[in-house]
Amino acid sequence: MARINENFLKLQAGYLFPEIGRRVKAFCAANPEADVIKMGIGDVTQPLPSAIIKAMHTAVDEMASSETFRGYGPEQGYGFLREAIAKNDYQQFGIQVDADEIFVSDGSKCDGGNILDIFGDDNRIAVLDPVYPVYVDTNVMAGHTGPADDNGRYEKLVYMAVTAENNFEPELPSEPVDIIYLCYPNNPTGVVATHAMLSKWVEYAEKNNSIILYDAAYAAFVSDPEIPRSIFEIPGARKVAIEMRSFSKNAGFTGIRCAFTVVPKELMGSTKSGEQHAIHTLWNRRHCTKFNGVSYPVQRGAEAAYSEEGKAQINELIDFYMNNAKLLREGLTAMGFEVFGGENAPYVWIKTPAETTSWEFFDHLLEKCHIVGTPGSGFGAAGEGYFRLSAFNSLENTEAALKRIQDSVSAGIQ
Ligand SMILES: *Cc1c(COP(=O)(O)O)cnc(C)c1O
Repeated sequence: MARINENFLKLQAGYLFPEIGRRVKAFCAANPEADVIKMGIGDVTQPLPSAIIKAMHTAVDEMASSETFRGYGPEQGYGFLREAIAKNDYQQFGIQVDADEIFVSDGSKCDGGNILDIFGDDNRIAVLDPVYPVYVDTNVMAGHTGPADDNGRYEKLVYMAVTAENNFEPELPSEPVDIIYLCYPNNPTGVVATHAMLSKWVEYAEKNNSIILYDAAYAAFVSDPEIPRSIFEIPGARKVAIEMRSFSKNAGFTGIRCAFTVVPKELMGSTKSGEQHAIHTLWNRRHCTKFNGVSYPVQRGAEAAYSEEGKAQINELIDFYMNNAKLLREGLTAMGFEVFGGENAPYVWIKTPAETTSWEFFDHLLEKCHIVGTPGSGFGAAGEGYFRLSAFNSLENTEAALKRIQDSVSAGIQ
């Protein structure tokens, strides 16, 4: 009989979003008249900017004519898109990233999992806690961990707790680690990393020969000029970091699918015997062997995100979501909640009131306010006692949700 990858059996059964879905479904079945506002899953809600739609339409029409039809494109992405990314996201800010260091893909989630193909099995891996679950689960699947303990923490992973107590600033690991996942602006906490904080990590990585996997999916939500958008703003980062970005959250591509990973040519990894190899070469080989490129119309759509019109429309989208974030942050703070994030990120992270657990607060919000959020404990043990609300919603829903929470607080059932 065919053998399975038994690492999959180590994965936690009640995965966060299915469990939320189950509870919401049960609630709606019992209360069919309830108008439930979903502020849980981190998906965008607004339609694509018209500049992007126009570019994709044109590209689809090109496919209809034998003169302009295109088949397979370069696996790494078309030059027009790689150059637009290098220029607009990096070079214009004085950050050195060349077009051939950019690998266009169908999503950062996929890149985050796929990148493990090029790393060995015996690396020490560090993640924040709470954490975007993809980093952990893909390492479990790849066999890089032992089983999970009662808190859901996997043996062999190094967890760096980020809570209000340490001001959401992870401490450097006390034992040397080889691979470090960082995500800023952060999902789920909505906090950002300062230049000083990232410099500390780059220094750590230089000293320990580690590699930082930097997830910058929310870079576009940073409006404070003092807050870095890219790890490559930090001197020395080209020797220690890979950066992943996506068009999902800024340009609304969650259903269109386009992202990219930046692998600097200086970045090296080592064999067991200490021989150095360029990560860029390995990733290029992996990408070309297992991936056949993002569809042409989608890459033209992504390119249009960098046109003058596209940039203006994306800024409007971001302002729209960040206004929701501001309303949530200010509204909840005024109601007496302890609120974090939501200033350069589309998530607010609130301390659950009166010692309630994350799941108790989830049930309370669902039953009393008909609002779905995300329990912090679903992102890791250190997320217990916290709760995530997303700014990806309509203004009407955001305002209605705040009013319902206010009414519930006023009624004293907070
Ligand atoms: C949404 C999100 C992404 C983007 O994933 P895609 O596969 O590109 O849609 C990546 N990282 C984090 C932390 C996210 O929240």
